[in-house]
Amino acid sequence: MENDYRIETKCIQGGWQPKCGEPRVLPIYQSTTFKYDDSDQMGKLFDLEAEGYFYTRLQNPTNDAVAAKITALEGGVAGMLTSSGQAANYYALFNICEAGDHIVCSNSVYGGTFNLFGTTLKKQGIECTFVNPDASYEELCGAFRPNTKAVFAETIANPSIVILDIEKFAKLAHDHGVPLIVDNTFATPINCRPFEWGADIVTHSTTKYMDGHAMAVGGAIIDSGNFDWMAHADKFPGLTTPDESYHGITYATKFGRQAYITKATAQLMRDLGSIPSPMNAFLLNVGLETLHLRMPRHCENAMKVAEYLDAHEKVAWVNYAGLPGNKYHALAEKYMPNGTCGVMAFGVKGDRATAVKFMDQLKLAAIVTHVADARTCILHPASHTHRQMTEEQLEEAGISPDLIRFSVGIENADDIISDLEQALAAI
Ligand SMILES: *Cc1c(COP(=O)(O)O)cnc(C)c1O
Repeated sequence: MENDYRIETKCIQGGWQPKCGEPRVLPIYQSTTFKYDDSDQMGKLFDLEAEGYFYTRLQNPTNDAVAAKITALEGGVAGMLTSSGQAANYYALFNICEAGDHIVCSNSVYGGTFNLFGTTLKKQGIECTFVNPDASYEELCGAFRPNTKAVFAETIANPSIVILDIEKFAKLAHDHGVPLIVDNTFATPINCRPFEWGADIVTHSTTKYMDGHAMAVGGAIIDSGNFDWMAHADKFPGLTTPDESYHGITYATKFGRQAYITKATAQLMRDLGSIPSPMNAFLLNVGLETLHLRMPRHCENAMKVAEYLDAHEKVAWVNYAGLPGNKYHALAEKYMPNGTCGVMAFGVKGDRATAVKFMDQLKLAAIVTHVADARTCILHPASHTHRQMTEEQLEEAGISPDLIRFSVGIENADDIISDLEQALAAI
């Protein structure tokens, strides 16, 4: 029955299902450990022979309930929370890659992801080829190697607002026998469910719209259960051969469609940590309860702001896929017919100093290292989030030096526009 609910109902009712006499609201299990009556019961848990909680680094009931809600929203079969979006993307790949392997990734991904894949994974022996997501299928095929293990991209890229052709990327991945992993942070499952278009695994920085109130950093990994690991057994030995660190269990045969998340929990969480605190999971759950109300308002406000900026003589350009003339309008209409998100990018006429002057003039829109939040906020990637990139890398990632990332909140749109108006008047 729960799976038949519409997405709005899942936002409210998904995850925590209280039994008779249990708390109506998801309890915060602020406990590192769980008690058992005899030694054998606990032993079975360690052997993955029985289900149950023993240590919060591996699993916690509060965290699991919230992971189950996000899994339901995405239409997946299994999911897990992580302590950050960075941890989610790292685990999503490291769960199926090891030293000597290679991945293919869109070059327009979030700056933190770009560093993680291009620099840190490289130090661990995993190489990444960054590709232009708008390139043709044939061109993209050229990035693959025999040791390629995954394709990674963002549904709506942060901050260049490139909309991914999910079907093209899914075909690309599947034709090369590897899964497509999609970071769905900006679209959220309210506006796009990548599994419906062929993606195999979805990740999130829940820090953004899912939390929505800038309260807790967090991440999530959701598996569609659709990728057949055994059909490509030689590529994914971690899932298809016995794990000696877990009594010789072969995840793909023992856990079927749950294999990927079970391995990520039993092996990566066990060894690397990065779990959210149950308190943060609780806060995330409160945010999720209104996600379906907030996303349409973000889109509605952003559309008004984009139209206003687009018509303004001091604005050089606006990139918002909701605008009919936008390069990505058709892809947005296809994959996100109800709207994309509240984030857009634009440039003001003038030089870099003009952009900075304009930003400093804003009163309602705050300069913060954050995005996709209930409160309108603004950032200049070239001087903030992406400042470690060279001019060349910035250009490749679709980030011009004048690019201003504007995250439209859920205040009254007229107040947001008035704020822009007075700041534009001052330059
Ligand atoms: C913010 C962000 C991340 C990183 O998430 P954190 O929660 O900050 O670790 C990853 N991907 C995208 C698209 C993001 O916007």
